[in-house]
Amino acid sequence: MKTKLGLLYGGKSAEHSVSMQTALAVINALDFEKFEIHPVYITEQGQWVKGALLNGPVETVKQLEFSEGESVAPTALAPTLQTKGEKGSFDVIFPLLHGPNGEDGTVQGLLELLNLPYVGNGVLSSSAGMDKVIMKNIFAQAGLSQVNYSWFIRSDWERDSDTAYETVEKKLGYPCFVKPANLGSSVGISKCRNRKELEVAFQEAFQFDRKVIVEEGITAREVEIGVLGNDNPECSVAGEIVPKVDFYDYKAKYEDGNTALIIPAEITEQEYAMLKEMAVKAFKALDCSGLVRADFFLTKDGKAYINEVNTMPGFTPFSMFPLLWKHTDVDYPSLIERLVNLALERHEEKQ
Ligand code: ATP
Ligand code: MG
Ligand code: MG
Ligand code: MG
Repeated sequence: MKTKLGLLYGGKSAEHSVSMQTALAVINALDFEKFEIHPVYITEQGQWVKGALLNGPVETVKQLEFSEGESVAPTALAPTLQTKGEKGSFDVIFPLLHGPNGEDGTVQGLLELLNLPYVGNGVLSSSAGMDKVIMKNIFAQAGLSQVNYSWFIRSDWERDSDTAYETVEKKLGYPCFVKPANLGSSVGISKCRNRKELEVAFQEAFQFDRKVIVEEGITAREVEIGVLGNDNPECSVAGEIVPKVDFYDYKAKYEDGNTALIIPAEITEQEYAMLKEMAVKAFKALDCSGLVRADFFLTKDGKAYINEVNTMPGFTPFSMFPLLWKHTDVDYPSLIERLVNLALERHEEKQ
């Protein structure tokens, strides 16, 4: 019997188009003999649209944007599921969504309520991982090294922006990084070298979120590790990102195509061991399941700082997470199957 796999993609987030690319890649990597693929497209406005069963590869992202299909309420994902004796429309859901309303526990909460197994992190790890302030607070408590940071709420900043800027200058200095607390793909992130840039950066970041985090800027290599599993997670080889621009911004991630990904990263055995330990510690601190990509800064003198984890990292075959696993002998189709199995295993354990 084929596994009925519901794919959720698109989404009401600044990372909508990234999700579309992922969906296209995942669909085309799946074995149509093993999986029955049910697409559910979420428009940029947040409308859910159920598409027809997919029986073969899809050529373009455009084909996945069927806003003409059957528009449904999110809860309609499970109507037939509970029918006695009859199997539902889905055996498992794969939320291929990044950013708010997808990677942040909201969709995960819905799927919990519907009692549907789903790939990736649960409600708590998703929401805690999406909010960089909460995530860093938890990491601090777990004893993980990080750069210094501060955070600000929009209404406070609107009332008294000077105090916010002074706090940043006193506590963190320049350069610093200003980020929306809840986002990804570097959307809304700026590097600031002076007060003028700081002001512009706050304006920009507050367009995306009511909460902004500011971090001390660090000069370091950027190294990432993939973590896969539930209670006993495994680590991939490490990979290094070498952006040819000032930092790994949105364009460098998705448009330029000239950011170098070096896999495996040229780091020492000790550095790799240290990063693996930190990655697993971060995974456990947030009570993660399924997968995360842990992002680190590694300084010349061999110190490691965790930057963040991504609970639904970039997932096209050319993204870091799948490439890390490819170099760890788990190819893209096997990675998807592993994730589906981890989802089913976690669901079983909860019952
Ligand atoms: P994604 O989820 O796509 O990985 P993100 O939007 O969560 O990205 P970060 O990973 O926090 O953003 O930051 C994006 C990039 O900005 C980093 O990969 C790095 O190049 C740079 N950067 C972020 N914070 C710092 C910092 N404190 N010091 C130096 N560089 C930084
Ligand atoms: Mg991130
Ligand atoms: Mg992200
Ligand atoms: Mg990152």
